[in-house]
Amino acid sequence: MSLNLNEVVRLLAAGKIPSPRLEARILLENAGGSPYAEVSGAAEEKLRRQIERRLAHTPLDKLLGCREFYKNSFVVSEDVLTPRPDTEILVEAAIELVQQNNFAKILDLGTGSGCILLSILDDCPATQGTAVDASEPALDIARRNASLLGLSERISFVHGSWFEDGFLQKTGSGFDMIVSNPPYIPTADIASLEPEVREHDPLSALDGGADGFVHYKKIAAWAPLLLNDGGYILLEAGIGQARQILKVFADTGLTPVDILPDLSGTERCVILKK
Ligand code: GLN
Repeated sequence: MSLNLNEVVRLLAAGKIPSPRLEARILLENAGGSPYAEVSGAAEEKLRRQIERRLAHTPLDKLLGCREFYKNSFVVSEDVLTPRPDTEILVEAAIELVQQNNFAKILDLGTGSGCILLSILDDCPATQGTAVDASEPALDIARRNASLLGLSERISFVHGSWFEDGFLQKTGSGFDMIVSNPPYIPTADIASLEPEVREHDPLSALDGGADGFVHYKKIAAWAPLLLNDGGYILLEAGIGQARQILKVFADTGLTPVDILPDLSGTERCVILKK
Protein backbone atom coordinates (compact mmCIF):
# COMPACT_ATOMS: atom_id res chain seq x y z
CA MET A 1 0.00 0.00 0.00
CA SER A 2 1.12 3.52 -0.68
CA LEU A 3 -0.42 6.92 -0.02
CA ASN A 4 -1.50 9.52 -2.57
CA LEU A 5 -3.40 12.80 -2.50
CA ASN A 6 -6.91 11.34 -2.74
CA GLU A 7 -6.26 8.85 0.03
CA VAL A 8 -4.81 11.45 2.39
CA VAL A 9 -7.74 13.82 1.68
CA ARG A 10 -10.13 10.95 2.43
CA LEU A 11 -8.44 10.13 5.76
CA LEU A 12 -8.39 13.78 6.90
CA ALA A 13 -11.99 14.43 5.77
CA ALA A 14 -13.18 11.30 7.59
CA GLY A 15 -11.60 12.77 10.75
CA LYS A 16 -13.52 16.05 10.17
CA ILE A 17 -10.32 18.08 9.70
CA PRO A 18 -11.26 21.46 8.15
CA SER A 19 -9.59 22.13 4.74
CA PRO A 20 -8.62 18.45 4.25
CA ARG A 21 -7.46 19.01 0.65
CA LEU A 22 -5.13 21.90 1.55
CA GLU A 23 -3.66 20.02 4.51
CA ALA A 24 -3.27 16.83 2.46
CA ARG A 25 -1.32 18.75 -0.17
CA ILE A 26 0.97 20.27 2.45
CA LEU A 27 1.57 16.91 4.16
CA LEU A 28 2.31 15.13 0.86
CA GLU A 29 4.58 17.91 -0.32
CA ASN A 30 6.47 17.57 2.93
CA ALA A 31 6.66 13.76 2.62
CA GLY A 32 7.37 13.32 -1.07
CA GLY A 33 8.46 16.68 -2.47
CA SER A 34 5.22 17.18 -4.45
CA PRO A 35 1.51 17.16 -3.58
CA TYR A 36 1.07 14.56 -6.34
CA ALA A 37 3.78 12.22 -5.07
CA GLU A 38 2.89 8.59 -4.41
CA VAL A 39 4.50 7.95 -1.03
CA SER A 40 5.65 4.50 0.07
CA GLY A 41 8.15 2.77 2.37
CA ALA A 42 9.67 4.73 5.26
CA ALA A 43 8.18 8.04 4.01
CA GLU A 44 4.73 6.46 3.99
CA GLU A 45 5.18 5.19 7.57
CA LYS A 46 6.14 8.67 8.69
CA LEU A 47 3.22 10.24 6.83
CA ARG A 48 0.75 7.76 8.35
CA ARG A 49 2.01 8.69 11.84
CA GLN A 50 1.61 12.40 11.01
CA ILE A 51 -1.96 11.80 9.78
CA GLU A 52 -2.76 9.93 12.99
CA ARG A 53 -1.45 12.84 15.08
CA ARG A 54 -3.38 15.33 12.93
CA LEU A 55 -6.58 13.31 13.45
CA ALA A 56 -5.88 13.57 17.19
CA HIS A 57 -5.86 17.42 16.71
CA THR A 58 -2.16 18.18 16.65
CA PRO A 59 -2.05 21.31 14.46
CA LEU A 60 -0.27 21.01 11.14
CA ASP A 61 2.54 23.46 11.96
CA LYS A 62 3.43 21.56 15.11
CA LEU A 63 3.54 18.30 13.16
CA LEU A 64 5.85 19.80 10.57
CA GLY A 65 7.87 22.00 12.96
CA CYS A 66 7.44 25.18 10.94
CA ARG A 67 4.90 27.85 10.08
CA GLU A 68 4.72 30.69 7.54
CA PHE A 69 4.20 34.14 9.09
CA TYR A 70 4.37 37.50 7.31
CA LYS A 71 7.31 37.10 4.88
CA ASN A 72 9.18 34.16 6.41
CA SER A 73 8.95 30.61 7.67
CA PHE A 74 9.48 30.14 11.43
CA VAL A 75 10.54 27.09 13.42
CA VAL A 76 7.82 26.20 15.94
CA SER A 77 7.37 23.64 18.71
CA GLU A 78 4.91 22.99 21.52
CA ASP A 79 6.97 25.48 23.57
CA VAL A 80 5.70 28.45 21.53
CA LEU A 81 2.37 29.91 20.43
CA THR A 82 1.68 29.15 16.78
CA PRO A 83 2.15 32.37 14.77
CA ARG A 84 -1.27 33.51 13.52
CA PRO A 85 -2.22 35.63 10.52
CA ASP A 86 -4.22 37.90 12.89
CA THR A 87 -0.90 39.11 14.29
CA GLU A 88 0.45 40.27 10.92
CA ILE A 89 -1.54 43.53 11.21
CA LEU A 90 0.57 44.49 14.25
CA VAL A 91 3.77 43.68 12.34
CA GLU A 92 2.76 45.83 9.36
CA ALA A 93 1.85 48.79 11.59
CA ALA A 94 5.13 48.45 13.53
CA ILE A 95 7.24 48.37 10.38
CA GLU A 96 5.54 51.52 9.06
CA LEU A 97 6.19 53.40 12.31
CA VAL A 98 9.82 52.22 12.56
CA GLN A 99 10.49 53.31 8.97
CA GLN A 100 8.75 56.71 9.35
CA ASN A 101 10.59 57.53 12.56
CA ASN A 102 13.94 55.76 11.99
CA PHE A 103 13.48 53.94 15.28
CA ALA A 104 16.64 52.27 16.59
CA LYS A 105 15.56 50.03 19.48
CA ILE A 106 12.53 47.75 19.80
CA LEU A 107 11.45 45.58 22.73
CA ASP A 108 9.27 42.47 22.25
CA LEU A 109 7.51 41.37 25.47
CA GLY A 110 6.74 37.65 25.39
CA THR A 111 8.52 36.88 22.13
CA GLY A 112 7.63 33.16 21.86
CA SER A 113 8.85 32.01 18.43
CA GLY A 114 10.17 35.53 17.81
CA CYS A 115 7.87 35.92 14.81
CA ILE A 116 6.83 39.54 15.57
CA LEU A 117 10.22 41.04 16.36
CA LEU A 118 12.14 39.06 13.73
CA SER A 119 9.64 40.05 11.01
CA ILE A 120 10.14 43.71 11.95
CA LEU A 121 13.95 43.46 12.07
CA ASP A 122 14.01 41.65 8.73
CA ASP A 123 12.26 44.63 7.08
CA CYS A 124 14.10 47.35 9.06
CA PRO A 125 17.85 46.74 8.62
CA ALA A 126 19.05 49.60 10.89
CA THR A 127 17.01 48.51 13.91
CA GLN A 128 18.10 46.51 16.99
CA GLY A 129 15.77 44.29 19.01
CA THR A 130 15.46 42.91 22.52
CA ALA A 131 13.32 39.79 22.90
CA VAL A 132 12.00 38.88 26.35
CA ASP A 133 10.33 35.66 27.42
CA ALA A 134 9.69 33.94 30.74
CA SER A 135 10.16 30.56 29.04
CA GLU A 136 13.72 29.40 28.34
CA PRO A 137 12.55 26.73 25.83
CA ALA A 138 10.65 29.45 23.93
CA LEU A 139 13.79 31.61 23.85
CA ASP A 140 15.69 28.65 22.36
CA ILE A 141 13.19 28.55 19.48
CA ALA A 142 13.41 32.33 19.02
CA ARG A 143 17.23 32.10 18.94
CA ARG A 144 17.03 29.42 16.26
CA ASN A 145 14.70 31.57 14.18
CA ALA A 146 17.00 34.59 14.58
CA SER A 147 19.92 32.48 13.40
CA LEU A 148 18.02 30.99 10.42
CA LEU A 149 17.00 34.49 9.29
CA GLY A 150 20.54 35.85 9.75
CA LEU A 151 19.35 38.31 12.43
CA SER A 152 21.26 37.08 15.51
CA GLU A 153 23.65 40.07 15.48
CA ARG A 154 20.78 42.55 15.82
CA ILE A 155 18.82 40.91 18.62
CA SER A 156 19.46 40.22 22.28
CA PHE A 157 17.50 37.73 24.32
CA VAL A 158 16.40 38.23 27.91
CA HIS A 159 15.00 35.50 30.15
CA GLY A 160 12.61 37.27 32.49
CA SER A 161 9.06 38.11 33.51
CA TRP A 162 7.18 41.38 33.88
CA PHE A 163 5.96 40.04 37.23
CA GLU A 164 9.52 40.34 38.68
CA ASP A 165 10.55 43.49 40.56
CA GLY A 166 13.91 43.56 38.80
CA PHE A 167 12.41 43.39 35.30
CA LEU A 168 13.70 46.80 34.20
CA GLN A 169 17.28 45.93 35.19
CA LYS A 170 17.07 42.88 32.94
CA THR A 171 15.61 44.57 29.86
CA GLY A 172 17.26 48.00 30.10
CA SER A 173 15.29 51.04 28.95
CA GLY A 174 15.39 53.68 26.19
CA PHE A 175 13.23 51.77 23.71
CA ASP A 176 11.57 53.52 20.76
CA MET A 177 8.90 50.87 20.50
CA ILE A 178 7.39 47.99 22.48
CA VAL A 179 5.53 45.22 20.66
CA SER A 180 3.66 42.44 22.44
CA ASN A 181 1.17 39.66 21.92
CA PRO A 182 0.70 38.78 25.60
CA PRO A 183 -1.46 35.95 26.97
CA TYR A 184 -5.02 37.34 27.01
CA ILE A 185 -7.57 34.51 27.14
CA PRO A 186 -9.60 34.67 30.39
CA THR A 187 -8.70 31.55 32.40
CA ALA A 188 -12.27 30.23 32.40
CA ASP A 189 -12.44 30.38 28.56
CA ILE A 190 -9.41 28.19 27.97
CA ALA A 191 -11.35 24.93 28.37
CA SER A 192 -13.58 25.88 25.42
CA LEU A 193 -10.73 26.64 22.95
CA GLU A 194 -10.15 24.21 20.05
CA PRO A 195 -7.95 21.25 21.06
CA GLU A 196 -5.34 22.41 18.52
CA VAL A 197 -4.87 25.54 20.66
CA ARG A 198 -5.76 24.24 24.14
CA GLU A 199 -3.51 21.19 23.99
CA HIS A 200 -0.69 22.32 21.69
CA ASP A 201 -0.04 26.00 22.42
CA PRO A 202 1.67 26.57 25.79
CA LEU A 203 -0.85 27.51 28.50
CA SER A 204 1.59 30.20 29.67
CA ALA A 205 1.17 31.93 26.28
CA LEU A 206 -2.65 31.86 26.44
CA ASP A 207 -3.74 32.41 30.04
CA GLY A 208 -4.58 36.06 30.69
CA GLY A 209 -5.78 35.49 34.27
CA ALA A 210 -9.33 35.73 35.59
CA ASP A 211 -10.35 38.77 33.50
CA GLY A 212 -7.85 38.32 30.64
CA PHE A 213 -6.05 41.58 31.50
CA VAL A 214 -3.45 40.48 34.08
CA HIS A 215 -0.55 40.80 31.62
CA TYR A 216 -1.75 44.05 30.02
CA LYS A 217 -1.87 45.60 33.52
CA LYS A 218 1.75 44.65 34.23
CA ILE A 219 2.87 45.83 30.80
CA ALA A 220 1.03 49.13 31.38
CA ALA A 221 2.98 49.60 34.62
CA TRP A 222 6.37 49.07 32.91
CA ALA A 223 5.75 50.74 29.55
CA PRO A 224 6.32 54.38 30.63
CA LEU A 225 9.66 53.35 32.18
CA LEU A 226 10.79 51.33 29.16
CA LEU A 227 9.87 53.80 26.38
CA ASN A 228 11.59 56.95 25.17
CA ASP A 229 9.45 60.08 24.81
CA GLY A 230 7.75 59.85 21.43
CA GLY A 231 7.98 56.05 21.55
CA TYR A 232 5.09 53.70 20.73
CA ILE A 233 3.57 50.53 22.16
CA LEU A 234 1.68 48.12 19.88
CA LEU A 235 -0.33 45.42 21.61
CA GLU A 236 -2.34 42.55 20.21
CA ALA A 237 -5.86 42.46 21.69
CA GLY A 238 -8.20 39.50 22.17
CA ILE A 239 -11.74 39.70 20.82
CA GLY A 240 -13.61 42.60 22.48
CA GLN A 241 -10.57 43.70 24.53
CA ALA A 242 -9.15 46.66 22.58
CA ARG A 243 -11.12 49.46 24.25
CA GLN A 244 -10.63 47.90 27.67
CA ILE A 245 -6.87 47.89 27.07
CA LEU A 246 -7.01 51.65 26.49
CA LYS A 247 -8.67 51.92 29.92
CA VAL A 248 -5.89 49.82 31.49
CA PHE A 249 -3.41 52.37 30.07
CA ALA A 250 -5.47 55.41 31.19
CA ASP A 251 -3.14 56.39 34.07
CA THR A 252 0.18 55.70 32.35
CA GLY A 253 0.55 59.05 30.58
CA LEU A 254 0.54 57.24 27.22
CA THR A 255 -1.87 58.57 24.58
CA PRO A 256 -4.14 56.33 22.46
CA VAL A 257 -3.18 56.56 18.77
CA ASP A 258 -5.21 53.90 16.95
CA ILE A 259 -7.05 50.58 17.10
CA LEU A 260 -6.54 48.47 13.96
CA PRO A 261 -8.83 45.66 12.76
CA ASP A 262 -7.47 42.33 11.54
CA LEU A 263 -8.57 40.76 8.24
CA SER A 264 -11.81 39.47 9.78
CA GLY A 265 -12.70 42.90 11.19
CA THR A 266 -11.83 42.17 14.85
CA GLU A 267 -10.20 45.11 16.68
CA ARG A 268 -6.81 43.43 16.99
CA CYS A 269 -4.01 45.93 17.47
CA VAL A 270 -3.94 48.75 20.00
CA ILE A 271 -1.41 51.55 19.52
CA LEU A 272 -0.42 54.14 22.13
CA LYS A 273 2.32 56.78 22.21
CA LYS A 274 4.42 58.19 25.05
N1 GLN B 1 -4.83 34.45 19.51
C1 GLN B 1 -4.75 33.32 20.38
C2 GLN B 1 -6.08 32.58 20.36
O1 GLN B 1 -7.12 33.19 20.16
C3 GLN B 1 -4.40 33.70 21.79
C4 GLN B 1 -3.07 34.29 21.87
C5 GLN B 1 -2.85 35.08 23.11
O2 GLN B 1 -3.41 34.82 24.20
N2 GLN B 1 -2.05 36.06 22.97
O3 GLN B 1 -6.12 31.40 20.55
